[in-house]
Amino acid sequence: MIIIMNSHVTDNEIDAVTEKLESFGMGAHLSRGTERTIIGLIGDERQVDRELLLALPGVEDVLRILKPYKIVSREAQESDTIVDINGIKIGGQTIQVIAGPCSVETQEQMDAAAAGVAAAGCRLMRGGAFKPRTSPYSFQGKGVEGLKIFRKAADGKNLPVVTELMDVRQLDSFLEHNVDVIQIGTRNMQNFDLLKEVGRIKTPVILKRGMSATVSEWLMAAEYIAAGGNHNIILCERGVRTFETAYRNMLDVTAIAFAKRETHLPVIADPSHAGGKTWMVPVLSRTAIAAGADGLLVEMHPTPCEAWCDADQALDAEQLKLLMAEISVMAEAIGRKV
Ligand code: PEP
Ligand code: MN
Repeated sequence: MIIIMNSHVTDNEIDAVTEKLESFGMGAHLSRGTERTIIGLIGDERQVDRELLLALPGVEDVLRILKPYKIVSREAQESDTIVDINGIKIGGQTIQVIAGPCSVETQEQMDAAAAGVAAAGCRLMRGGAFKPRTSPYSFQGKGVEGLKIFRKAADGKNLPVVTELMDVRQLDSFLEHNVDVIQIGTRNMQNFDLLKEVGRIKTPVILKRGMSATVSEWLMAAEYIAAGGNHNIILCERGVRTFETAYRNMLDVTAIAFAKRETHLPVIADPSHAGGKTWMVPVLSRTAIAAGADGLLVEMHPTPCEAWCDADQALDAEQLKLLMAEISVMAEAIGRKV
């Protein structure tokens, strides 16, 4: 951390900064230039509150040198993390596609969806039992009953299940039903108590980016999970809010490339919630893979026009098959496979 003093700084003000750093157990390295004086902090800057230094007289700016995310940064680990879900690896050479309905509706719907997911060659299945809906009057998900239905359908095809956790009170049910991957949705990316709870267990977590979160905030959210001891984290870019209203969100492909460089965690993309339209899913999927995504989270439904939730962005079983073929070509072009 570097503390930049203003041009009229006095010796007393410099001493006050040095003493403040020492009170934190840190050292200080003073450098007097012809125009400016700067003070370098010696020690772990992450333990120092920048605001406290900015508030001192004579301080113009305080710059951090280290990444605020300690465990998830590339600085901490150079090699890619590969998250292993019952032998299925996310973050390796193979691009994994997680597909399934937006929400769990009935056993018949989930059985048909599981058949479609498996037939297309996808190795993991998604489906929401607890749904974060904009309106309290919309379908809120089947809840625990939905977890049972999902488990049964997915087990029939030997597919690990990926489902969203919205509240710490649901965690016991998730563990009871052996949820293979816990999804933290965009609206809960900064629900720090929820992040801490999933950090205490070993279940892999898909951490969706908040729809208005910076990449740094997203990585700090991942750091919350990692700090608790759970390093099985998969980041998911699902589109961000912009001024545009013609489509649901903007898939931030720049963030995919950036996050891959900035962290060692696998990064996947959700083309369904990004575009919000079925026809956009293939092109956004190819784009995400070209940008370096390690996988996709895709909504599919056996009969999209009857879906209880997000009908307009769901692929049917046939379209999912086609998507798999299309992305195989893209994957091969960049030396990966599906
Ligand atoms: C979902 O994947 O079902 C979902 C609700 O996504 P998001 O949190 O990205 O809106
Ligand atoms: Mn959805």
